[in-house]
Amino acid sequence: MLENGWDTFEIGTILRPFEGAVTDIVNTLPEHRNYSKSNSFSISVADWRIEKPLLNLEECIHCQFCWIYCPDMSIISREKKMVTIDFDHCKGCGICVEVCPTNALLMFPEQMDEAEALSNWPQEENTKVKEN
Ligand code: SF4
Ligand code: SF4
Repeated sequence: MLENGWDTFEIGTILRPFEGAVTDIVNTLPEHRNYSKSNSFSISVADWRIEKPLLNLEECIHCQFCWIYCPDMSIISREKKMVTIDFDHCKGCGICVEVCPTNALLMFPEQMDEAEALSNWPQEENTKVKEN
């Protein structure tokens, strides 16, 4: 853990995600990656979140767009199949929802119960039109 918090980084500081050379990161599981101390994998940013993405696997086509675009590596995928979201490190930016071509990912209030959200998943006509 960093001795200084996120709010003490100076403006313009470069926050490198990994220590040293990065090789074959795609095939390296998150728990085996050499994260830097300033990576949000090392420091939880979850307490910033006011909205969270929820994953509905019934709508998921496993395209991996969300996994590729998530800036915090908070999408957990195994063997190119979506598994879940790592809420210890997801900061709620919503990028995964923006790039999802189906309605498999949607943003909900932080306190929303996941089971309730899944049982009342919005129909496509009630969500924004996807362009990608
Ligand atoms: S909301 Fe942002 S940080 Fe969280 S899983 Fe989606 S892209 Fe990643
Ligand atoms: S972007 Fe959407 S459809 Fe594609 S893997 Fe992620 S949740 Fe599934």
